[in-house]
Amino acid sequence: MLLEVEGLTTAYKGLLAIQDISLAVAEGEIVVVAGANGAGKSTLLKSIAGQERPRSGSVTFDGARIEGLAGHLITARGIAYVPENKRLFPRLSVADNLRLGSYLHRSRADREAPLDQVFTLFPRLKERLPQRAATLSGGEQQMLAIGRALMTRPRLLMLDEPSQGIMPKLVDEIFAAVTTIRATGVTVLLVEQRLSESLGIADRAYVLQTGRVILAGPAAEIRDDPEVRRAYLGI
Ligand code: ATP
Repeated sequence: MLLEVEGLTTAYKGLLAIQDISLAVAEGEIVVVAGANGAGKSTLLKSIAGQERPRSGSVTFDGARIEGLAGHLITARGIAYVPENKRLFPRLSVADNLRLGSYLHRSRADREAPLDQVFTLFPRLKERLPQRAATLSGGEQQMLAIGRALMTRPRLLMLDEPSQGIMPKLVDEIFAAVTTIRATGVTVLLVEQRLSESLGIADRAYVLQTGRVILAGPAAEIRDDPEVRRAYLGI
């Protein structure tokens, strides 16, 4: 397994946001974490990415324990994280936002190598290189946030609700991009509310409810589960 989370518990002011969560992601997989608002999906990603300090449990990445490490050290080990709010630099250009993603690489050639991949994935970004990030549409900002994450050349890409606040046409583009990213050898852990689209591109899924894993299995099985369909798909 590339990522193994065991018994992870994270609390805010004494309230448990995630409780005893265990999950694993194999190299090359797309794994979806689903669940209603407040189920703990974002807290799970933050706890893996070093943005929140877990109270207990372990996170093992590529055979090494990483829980409790600072976020930038976790990025340096090969985990890129795109948070729900994207955290772009709104006053900087698209080009500079992308450059800031590649600060980890010392040589210029190494820094610029992932750019071609990003432009192939999102040609719109190439057309908008001098434009300030703040003036991009919601969907373009999401593309930029994903592009910037790819500039770190991650082995694991974690995305928190990439389809949120985006017009339908671009939502399809984002999901298609995730499939393409995986095809280039990057493993993906995806938090999503849009279950039918995300389960459509995923290998496996975990469903969270009030901070715990209540269901896990192959994406197709989760999609066909009557309980899930009723609770999350409204079918
Ligand atoms: P959403 O889809 O709405 O973002 P989520 O599944 O990502 O939901 P979390 O954001 O992880 O859920 O929230 C899990 C629980 O932790 C919720 O009860 C939430 O109110 C609480 N929580 C999250 N962030 C904080 C915080 N910074 N301070 C206090 N409580 C928090």
